[in-house]
Amino acid sequence: MTDKTSAIRMVKGTIVISFEFCKGCELCVTFCPKHVISLSDRINAAGYPTATLINNGQCTGCAICALVCPEVAIEVYRE
Ligand code: SF4
Ligand code: SF4
Repeated sequence: MTDKTSAIRMVKGTIVISFEFCKGCELCVTFCPKHVISLSDRINAAGYPTATLINNGQCTGCAICALVCPEVAIEVYRE
């Protein structure tokens, strides 16, 4: 007999945000459905506060953040 619960597996993901490309617009913060991106107090060379991943274990790799980022500053990786 098949254990149906074992077929339901959460996809895990992670993102890498380019520190120097980020302009701190917060679009990724707003649109992440898991609320795992936050604006940090780290300022890049252009003077912008930069986004950071705050709870890596909850990222699903959905790539919404990368799609909305106007600076193409986010890379998404899936398990
Ligand atoms: S890939 Fe999806 S879940 Fe992960 S940080 Fe981006 S928007 Fe959030
Ligand atoms: S959407 Fe892109 S530019 Fe805007 S805060 Fe997020 S990573 Fe930075």
